[in-house]
Amino acid sequence: MTNLEKFQALEHKLQAYQYVLNVVSWDSATEAPKGAFERRADMQSLISQEAFELWTSDEYRDVLDALRNDDSLSELDQKNVEKAHKALSKVSHIPSDEYAAYEKLLALAQRTWEDAKANDDYDSFKDTLGKIIETQRKLIAYRGESKAPYDVLLDDYEEGMNMEKYDAFFDAIRQDLVPFVQKVLASGVQKPAFIDRHFPKAAQKAFVEYLNDVFAYDLDKGLLKESVHPFTWNTHPSDVRYTVRYLEDFVFSSIFAGIHELGHATYEMGVDESLTPTRLKGGTSMGIHESQSRFYENVIGRSKAFWEVHYPKLKSLFPEALKDVDLDTFYLGINWVEQSFIRVEADELTYPLHILIRYECERAIFNDGIALDDLPDLWNQKVKDYLNLTVEKDTDGLLQDVHWSGGAFGYFPTYALGSAYAAQIYYAMQKDLDLDAVILANDIPKINAWLKENIHQYGKTKSPEEIIRDVTGEDFDVQYYIRYLKEKYTPLYLG
Ligand SMILES: [Zn+2]
Repeated sequence: MTNLEKFQALEHKLQAYQYVLNVVSWDSATEAPKGAFERRADMQSLISQEAFELWTSDEYRDVLDALRNDDSLSELDQKNVEKAHKALSKVSHIPSDEYAAYEKLLALAQRTWEDAKANDDYDSFKDTLGKIIETQRKLIAYRGESKAPYDVLLDDYEEGMNMEKYDAFFDAIRQDLVPFVQKVLASGVQKPAFIDRHFPKAAQKAFVEYLNDVFAYDLDKGLLKESVHPFTWNTHPSDVRYTVRYLEDFVFSSIFAGIHELGHATYEMGVDESLTPTRLKGGTSMGIHESQSRFYENVIGRSKAFWEVHYPKLKSLFPEALKDVDLDTFYLGINWVEQSFIRVEADELTYPLHILIRYECERAIFNDGIALDDLPDLWNQKVKDYLNLTVEKDTDGLLQDVHWSGGAFGYFPTYALGSAYAAQIYYAMQKDLDLDAVILANDIPKINAWLKENIHQYGKTKSPEEIIRDVTGEDFDVQYYIRYLKEKYTPLYLG
């Protein structure tokens, strides 16, 4: 066997372990009974351990090292080997007992955070948070990179990104978007009353199934289920599933989280099948992934054109709740902007401000070494500055998100970046397609084909930067995002 064949065989085996773990986690998030928990955790941990040992074995490392010095590899194989090397180097320098201790810390932190959030008690979480941050710094140091710790984390979640680039991005948000949002919030436009009405679950379900058809989601390769938190799951382009939840007093959850997840799913289904055996399979980055889901959800799903076509169907499913609601009122309702404490409930326009708050706090933690005692004040001041709200409870403030308790620092910025990528992609797409006309013709497959051709098919063979440059002919530019938001929200609130 050549080194390449050996490597491929090892990767195949690792993928098999991962496949099994993925299917188990899908089952556990959707339909497994509560009582299955303990046995499942036991089986999962055994399989994960086996996979981890194989991945960090001398056999795997030796073959990888040999291939890194092999000039005869194709460009694709080289990229695959580099991806594998990068992934391994994130853990290979870490002593295994420290890695295990960190995993344990995170498992406990989850519980501690849940309790702290439930009891509005930041102090009971502070020490755990401190330990996570301290361990993160240590683990980063083992990797021996010459970058600042927060830059390492930012690059982990979005290859090519760092504080310098994000500073420029968030400076523009702070300077150009914050004043605009404040004008919108002060516009005095009345909130449409229908938003809080009762929308029966059975009809919501029927509408989500209708959306599957509209977006041409292929049910021979997909599956729709319910879960507490909507998500997309995939193992390869022929098995891409997603979930929604049905809230009878908030119909937008199933509609827009559903369209959002369909955006993620369509991306995964569009990746070239030939990449499946490699590490180049799947979407290229968190940010580009989020650009696809936000494009679906906001650019298509919250457009007037979309509802000109599909509002009659929705109205027929909810004759009671929507009986006195005309299209313009509905369009305002789905684009309703208001100050809120909670990120996951935020609208498209205020959403990036929630991310701005998190970025500045994470930067203060990792780069400026802020004391954890001062963190709530810093957070609350930023909420005051950007959203003009006074945080009364840390539960509504810095305790609201799960990410930090899972050690996921540097993750949040990709959410805002994804929306910004989506806007830049939108203006590029307009040069090829009249998007409104395509949506009015109910021809979403045409949009899917464009996205597949320009983005999806490439998987990880292109970096996020390459995707944006090749699709738009330019480097990433935050001004498209600000322009898009102003063009959309000015007529709704300030026109
Ligand atoms: Zn998403």
